[in-house]
Amino acid sequence: MGLQHTESGRPLPLPNPTTQPYFDGAKERKLRMQRCPRDGFFFYPRSRCPVCLGDDWSWEDTSGRGSVHSFTVDRIGHVPALRELAPFAIAIVELEEGPRITARLVDVDADSVEVGLAVEASYEDVGDMTVVHFRPASSATSAPATSPAFA
Ligand SMILES: [Zn+2]
Repeated sequence: MGLQHTESGRPLPLPNPTTQPYFDGAKERKLRMQRCPRDGFFFYPRSRCPVCLGDDWSWEDTSGRGSVHSFTVDRIGHVPALRELAPFAIAIVELEEGPRITARLVDVDADSVEVGLAVEASYEDVGDMTVVHFRPASSATSAPATSPAFA
């Protein structure tokens, strides 16, 4: 994905024809991803399925639910335009549908984040863009969030 910046210097993704449907979905508060009829959902957006290289995928909405697979905490604010938000967690979220997506965690104390935390997509409008974050799931019992690698 390309990159653009707001006037304050905040970096934002720059959609292209391949990624535009993902951002259109975000604007509608849907976590929309490509799904291969044989291999399931995949991410990041690309022109062919990363498993079978087929191009007969379709855009479909995911549940937007998943769990924290891994994370780090930015305590400094490496991006000056986001410095006031530090400390904040950046996580690799494993979606219920399988794909992993890297995103900032919001509405949570960075020091309380744990691997396996059940999360759901959260959307922020920034100018003409909508960016996807994740926040703790509203119903903690809805996503048991277990990962064999960390069991
Ligand atoms: Zn495939």
